[in-house]
Amino acid sequence: MQPTASHYVNGAYLEDDAGAEIPVIFPATGEQIALVHEATPAVIEAALASAKAAQADWAAMVPVERGRILRRAADIMRERNRELSELETLDTGKPIQETLVADATSAADALEYFGGLAATLTGEHVPLGGDWAYTMRVPLGVCVGIGAWNYPTQIAAWKGAPALACGNTMIFKPSEQTPLCALKVAEILTEAGAPPGVYNVIQGAGTVGKSLVEDPRTAKVSLTGSAATGKKVYAAAAAQMKHATMELGGKSPLIIFDDADLESAVSAAINANFYASGQVCSNGTRVFVQNDIKEAFLSRLAERTAQAIIGDPRDEATNFGPMVSEEQLAITCSFIEKGLSEGARLIHGGKRLDQPGCYIEPTIFADVTDDMTIAREEIFGPVMSVLDFDTEDEVLIRANATELGLSGAVFTADLTRAHRVVHAIDAGSVWINQYNLTPVEVPFGGMKGSGVGRENSRAAIEHYSQLKTVYVGMSPVEAAF
Ligand code: NAD
Repeated sequence: MQPTASHYVNGAYLEDDAGAEIPVIFPATGEQIALVHEATPAVIEAALASAKAAQADWAAMVPVERGRILRRAADIMRERNRELSELETLDTGKPIQETLVADATSAADALEYFGGLAATLTGEHVPLGGDWAYTMRVPLGVCVGIGAWNYPTQIAAWKGAPALACGNTMIFKPSEQTPLCALKVAEILTEAGAPPGVYNVIQGAGTVGKSLVEDPRTAKVSLTGSAATGKKVYAAAAAQMKHATMELGGKSPLIIFDDADLESAVSAAINANFYASGQVCSNGTRVFVQNDIKEAFLSRLAERTAQAIIGDPRDEATNFGPMVSEEQLAITCSFIEKGLSEGARLIHGGKRLDQPGCYIEPTIFADVTDDMTIAREEIFGPVMSVLDFDTEDEVLIRANATELGLSGAVFTADLTRAHRVVHAIDAGSVWINQYNLTPVEVPFGGMKGSGVGRENSRAAIEHYSQLKTVYVGMSPVEAAF
């Protein structure tokens, strides 16, 4: 079931054990479950050479055939969902209850969706009197995908599927924390008929990603990661005028008015903070609750959070697993300490569990104010901040007072207010009476410091292709002399 080597290059697994060792730790137990090696310069070169060599033929393939390969890969992923979900759970520590429905399945959705679009990517005819022009949608070339550790299968496919549909080839570098799942995506694409070199995976830390972005043979980079990394990678891409998509962090507002369905609002706050142990970029970590329902909301929230089943993520009953690593757990603990020392009121959780593995309780703070560290900085762990508000005007100003703008939501029964509020939130994805649903059919991506570009939907095509204009002269050319 596990990948058989560290890298996947030119249609096959590849090992070079001269590369630095990257142990793969199962976060629920702390046990090492695999060992991969960082890509050496030779591996990086092999990936670049194979992606470059494969690109022209892949782009020249009849689009419907290219699409069929992606759709076949989607079918294989769905058939192997159980096995792929188990690997995702080992790689990330996320509960199997989640991975069975959110990871290989959403990767398959992307492969199916973009497989279907591949044959529809046409240009247009432009009449110009006697002369005329047409446009062609052409690929960019070799694309670099760089992943975060929270959704390793999904990220590998959300980048790979549109890139390949448009006729590009890809070199994907997973996060060094979760190196295994992307290798399975590569393996399945080969099995589905993708020619060697079309989708490659190489391992390593930021330095490997950096060498891919800086190599003149690559045309585009799509990063999923933190805002700090995004600034570096975007600058490196700009230095060579490369295309870039940046899917970065958030500190998103979830605004709950006093006419909201309370149980739904509590469910949304739980999903928006504790799914995947809070390690979701679009999470609604600033939960603004209108003052008159605040205590009712908090008591129901605490009551329901106490029912979380914290345990081994391989057990289907578990609905709250460990964090991905000791390092992320330590970061989360330090934010909890700041919350306490800056005067937030701890409603639930707050402690590391006294057992092996990277377990921390789902944590809720109330009476959080806008200036507190936990209300300003992305934590990327299971820590919810509940803030109070009185009026719509006030909450909108406060909700937008952040450099980030990935997501946001409103809970209210008032239809006009719902639309007014989501229109006013400066974020790429906003929900009305729902949270964190990101189907492949709709664009996903950030405003402000949360990034540039969009993944999913037809919008992603714009970011993996470019237009070429062909002007057709139909008459003799005239000149001044
Ligand atoms: P990170 O920024 O530390 O790393 C992301 C990736 O970038 C890793 O693969 C890393 O090796 C690579 N990298 C680091 N420095 C690099 C460099 N100079 N050049 C090229 N590559 C480099 O992020 P993380 O800790 O893996 O993930 C958590 C962050 O990702 C959070 O901020 C989260 O919000 C964000 N995220 C965003 C989305 C989204 O779609 N918007 C989704 C998931 C996670």
